[in-house]
Amino acid sequence: MPVEKRHPIPVTEAIQRVVKQDIFMDKTQVKLNDSLGYVLAEDIVATYEIPRFDKSPYDGFAIRAKDSEGASGDHRIEFKVIDHIGAGSVSEHVVGDHEAVRIMTGAAMPEGADAVVMLEQTTEGEGTFTLRKAFEPGDNVSKKGEETTVGDVVLQKGQHINAGAIAVLATYGYTDVPVYQKPSVAVIATGSELLDVEDELEPGKIRNSNGPMVQALAEKIGLNVDTYKIQQDDLESSLAVVKEAAESHDIVITTGGVSVGDYDYLPEIYQQLNAEVLFNKVAMRPGSVTTVAVADDTYLFGLSGNPSACYTGFELFVKPAVFHMMGATRIYPQVVQATLMEDFKKANPFTRFIRATVTFNGKAMTVVPSGFNKSGAVVAIAHSNAMIMLPGGSRGYQAGYTVNVILTDSSALEAELLI
Ligand code: AMP
Ligand code: MG
Repeated sequence: MPVEKRHPIPVTEAIQRVVKQDIFMDKTQVKLNDSLGYVLAEDIVATYEIPRFDKSPYDGFAIRAKDSEGASGDHRIEFKVIDHIGAGSVSEHVVGDHEAVRIMTGAAMPEGADAVVMLEQTTEGEGTFTLRKAFEPGDNVSKKGEETTVGDVVLQKGQHINAGAIAVLATYGYTDVPVYQKPSVAVIATGSELLDVEDELEPGKIRNSNGPMVQALAEKIGLNVDTYKIQQDDLESSLAVVKEAAESHDIVITTGGVSVGDYDYLPEIYQQLNAEVLFNKVAMRPGSVTTVAVADDTYLFGLSGNPSACYTGFELFVKPAVFHMMGATRIYPQVVQATLMEDFKKANPFTRFIRATVTFNGKAMTVVPSGFNKSGAVVAIAHSNAMIMLPGGSRGYQAGYTVNVILTDSSALEAELLI
């Protein structure tokens, strides 16, 4: 059989084809404590002002500012303390002429008072204190509604729920949060050379590293993953497993078997499933054979078996698809610029992605490959927090060149103490 002719498409176009699919998860409600990592399915509108009442941001004394007029070091003014309240309490007193209420952080301003003198700004006596500076109305008072007023959109539909969003939802009393469901994911490693982690090595065999890696990548973005057992390079059994996985999941990720070799059965499997192949060749290295297909609203990601290519494929195609399905506003990888600190001589017509370490050294962002970087490399992935993106061309790149860098995993970021 002649080798199938494939037509490479630019990486940008490949990503666009993936996220253009009309595949969306349904809305649901989750408990606030379970909502981290979900995407909001509705705008969240402020139902009351924050702060809810004028309050003291400090421990101090609530006074009428006008009573402090003319105060100075030579002319200290005395106040009589008529009440004492902590956060959560409301004073029943009205603050009058040269009177004060001792007030703790977060407590509501008593009636009549319009300024707070911090404890450190006073000299205390028996039921009294003096101050040496004049205050203006509003000094040291957090005003009702200064952060949000009723009707403000405080979180937008499509926002990823992070810790700050959880704080906002808690503020407004959301015990249940409107979100889009997370897609279910099946991971299937294919290859007759593959052994499980616990297996003894045998001649010609290697351990399956892609399966656990892809599972971890998906779990890192909060997804539930079913990992299937390793599939031999056998059309019939692989087809049956991919089919079953596709029927019960929103996303099926296979690794390996997607090329044009004698035992690469994924192209045939897509055909047998009547899947629409969005592309099967991308102008990128590594992972040019990466294939994405869709069958019955299920995404089928055929990632290359080469570990670096597999990792790159997940970052470039799977992640944006997941965020797209979940209705997120931000779906693309974050890209920054950094100075390349090593020559990269190898020219290639395809865009090259290199697992890399990006660092801010206090002056500038710099980036270096994170280790041995052929497409089969594994170790460099573990030391990377980013991927250098080198546009295709007939020349290599020299140290000092400014390159675009995709941020991938900030947990691998080595950082000096620059704070
Ligand atoms: P393939 O994409 O099936 O042609 O595989 C490309 C290369 O990746 C081969 O050297 C495979 O042995 C290797 N490979 C395939 N699957 C895995 C896997 N799950 N873990 C580690 N290496 C793999
Ligand atoms: Mg293979």
